[in-house]
Amino acid sequence: MASRGVLIGRFQPPHKGHVEVFKQILREVDELIVGIGGAQESHTLENPFTAGERMLMITRALAEAGVNLSRVHIIPIPDVNNNAIWVSHVISLSPPFSVVYSGNPLVKRLFKEAGFKTKTPPPFKRKEYWGTNIRDRMINGRRWENLVPKSVVEVMREINAVERMKDLSKTDYLLR
Ligand code: ATP
Ligand code: MG
Repeated sequence: MASRGVLIGRFQPPHKGHVEVFKQILREVDELIVGIGGAQESHTLENPFTAGERMLMITRALAEAGVNLSRVHIIPIPDVNNNAIWVSHVISLSPPFSVVYSGNPLVKRLFKEAGFKTKTPPPFKRKEYWGTNIRDRMINGRRWENLVPKSVVEVMREINAVERMKDLSKTDYLLR
């Protein structure tokens, strides 16, 4: 029976730190499940990209890293805004898994209480490879391209990501 580990994140956007974690998990288990949290969110400064765009970026980044995609499952997970039922919600959407990888203490606590094994991935240049840092850089016209895989830069270009984010950062002219 294949062993499966899950990593849940918002991936706004997926970056080089995530790819390192994906590769690390795939050294430990047979199959990786990537859960796209906040799947219903898009077009906000915190959550600029749709679940579909994030799936595309993750698939391309994994392929660029030489990962065999038949070992990977990507699932969108909309928020339920109820921590007590969140684990059952994830289970209802995911292929079966036995290990949960997360650096987030709440995620670890909830899965531990539900009887899952939890593991904390080692941080990879966390101050640079950090979604909030990358989104800030994109909005402020600073260099961000070196923090995500090349294939993610390409998807960003395809969807005009920087233009979208700059538009999202503007306020309604009536309010100025
Ligand atoms: P944000 O600032 O938007 O929260 P993020 O970089 O934390 O961006 P998430 O989508 O929240 O991105 O990441 C999901 C999970 O991936 C995190 O909870 C953490 O466990 C792991 N992770 C993210 N970046 C790194 C990194 N550089 N090294 C190791 N693990 C990471
Ligand atoms: Mg985070």
